[in-house]
Amino acid sequence: RAFQNSLSDSRSNDFIKASLAPKRKNAAFVALVRNSDLKGMRDSIRQLEDRFNRKYHYPYIFLNDVPFTEEFKRGVQDLASSNVTFGTLDSESWGYPPWVDKQKAKDIWEKADYMHSKSESYRFMCRFQSGYVFRHPLVQQLDYYWRIEPDVKYFCDIDYDPFVFMAENNKKYGWIIGFSEYMATIPTLWKSTKEFIDKNPSYVAKDNALAWALNEEKVYNGCHFWSNFEIVDLSFYRSKPYLEYFEYLDKSGGFFYERWGDAPVHSLAVSFLLSKDEIHYFSDIGYYHPALGYCPDDSDKKGKCVCDPKKNTGKNFVCTKSWVDLFGKK
Ligand code: GDP
Ligand code: MN
Repeated sequence: RAFQNSLSDSRSNDFIKASLAPKRKNAAFVALVRNSDLKGMRDSIRQLEDRFNRKYHYPYIFLNDVPFTEEFKRGVQDLASSNVTFGTLDSESWGYPPWVDKQKAKDIWEKADYMHSKSESYRFMCRFQSGYVFRHPLVQQLDYYWRIEPDVKYFCDIDYDPFVFMAENNKKYGWIIGFSEYMATIPTLWKSTKEFIDKNPSYVAKDNALAWALNEEKVYNGCHFWSNFEIVDLSFYRSKPYLEYFEYLDKSGGFFYERWGDAPVHSLAVSFLLSKDEIHYFSDIGYYHPALGYCPDDSDKKGKCVCDPKKNTGKNFVCTKSWVDLFGKK
């Protein structure tokens, strides 16, 4: 009993310390997940807790298009050291907007051949992440979110609070992996984006990062921040320019007639609406999402990392490299 008391005391002391820390941000981990992702989500939470959250106790918010099962809720609460809440989506944020012709979309998918080319739910997911997640009632109250997904790994200890870092350095968008999009999924995304920019020249930030996203012909080159990890000042997604940009894209139907991903949508918005100094490359966070990983340079010296910087050479991804070439590591 004494042992149990001291155990729960030290836990709640940690919790109180973290909650009272003056710098703590109004922030949370946010994941859209399926009930069937329970095992992968538990893996991710275990990693996050061990590497970061056991000391910081930021809450988790799980969202789903169908209600979470009791098994899922228990399974994630079991590993979280903080408050966990669960939400479902409304039909506006998960589904077709009225102006999209479903039959036309399905006819196009028949002939398409790329990852998720025939999937309706994948498209709902991309549209939700692009335009709705930050407006969900549970997320609405946050200033920052850290997006998480099932089956991700955090290779190293994270010994500081990335939310506080973002706030103190006026960062609006944080990323780890820069990657190149498969262009068959976004044939007209740049055309729509260009139209929006031409109609709203005042929205284009001074010192923006568009050079990173365009080729020599000034056309989108497919570079995007891999959005399965992103830490964002949500006032950016809730800003008039971002909301109007999303609406402009949504009206064109490209989330359905093509398969626009939230990663290129977020990344294009970030690169013309923000100044490059408001965008942060978290080059010190070791991270893996199925298929690709990134291991920091000095991972053999600090952070108790479990990755090999020679193997997880995220630095060699073209779009990470072009970012560093243009803007450096900060
Ligand atoms: P990928 O990372 O592009 O391969 O896509 P994922 O399959 O990992 O999906 C991205 C995120 O959205 C993951 O957290 C998934 O669990 C979630 N997700 C994808 N499709 C659905 C869906 O139909 N319903 C729910 N609730 N979540 C989904
Ligand atoms: Mn994923």
